[in-house]
Amino acid sequence: MIDQIRANYQAVVQKIRQAESAAGRPSESVRLIGVTKYVDASTTQSLIGVGCADLGENRPQVLWQKAAELTVPKDFRWHMIGHVQTNKLRRLLKHRPLIHSVDSERLLRAIEEESRHQNCVTDVLLEVNVSGDENKTGLSVEEIRRLAKHCDPASVNLLGLMAMAGWGTAGDEAARQFAEVARLRDELEGELDRRLPELSMGMSGDFGEAIAAGATMVRIGSALFEGIPRS
Ligand SMILES: *Cc1c(COP(=O)(O)O)cnc(C)c1O
Repeated sequence: MIDQIRANYQAVVQKIRQAESAAGRPSESVRLIGVTKYVDASTTQSLIGVGCADLGENRPQVLWQKAAELTVPKDFRWHMIGHVQTNKLRRLLKHRPLIHSVDSERLLRAIEEESRHQNCVTDVLLEVNVSGDENKTGLSVEEIRRLAKHCDPASVNLLGLMAMAGWGTAGDEAARQFAEVARLRDELEGELDRRLPELSMGMSGDFGEAIAAGATMVRIGSALFEGIPRS
């Protein structure tokens, strides 16, 4: 199994490097977040073993259960990429994750409050519903503009935006949506007069388009676990 995971991981890393180069971007300007929601702790450990030091989970309770079982390197980081209920924050924040999926003002305020309690500053991205699809999570562009201006910098560190292309979106349309997210980020940087360095966008099926549009983090699950039994 470990050989299969190593081969998958190296193939994905190589495709990321090729996409960076094709976009005229510096090598290693894109970080691979290994999405381990499909697999158990032992398979997750194998992915860490082949060199992946950034892992993403979409359920807080799975993140903290795995965290208790895994051995991780020094530079390891957890990424929370799915919906977070506010009653999960106390345990979640103990792992000092980057939260990609801030999808409501209520959640943002709860993160601020719990961060003050834990005496930490939590790194966050605002999740933008770029496809405008009502069934998708994420904030509207108007809400993003408002919340970006009203984050408490003493408790949250706003690093940028996260987005998913709409369901069943083909290459060209995904590329258009990713470009729109990048443009929104650029506009916000102007309005806030500070940098928002991170753009989390792109999954197994569309990370090439996302990197072309300026993604700095790609969240990849399926492509890493091809040929591996799912839990
Ligand atoms: C599952 C998931 C991914 C990974 O998707 P794949 O298509 O398996 O690479 C990325 N982002 C989020 C938010 C997810 O829930």
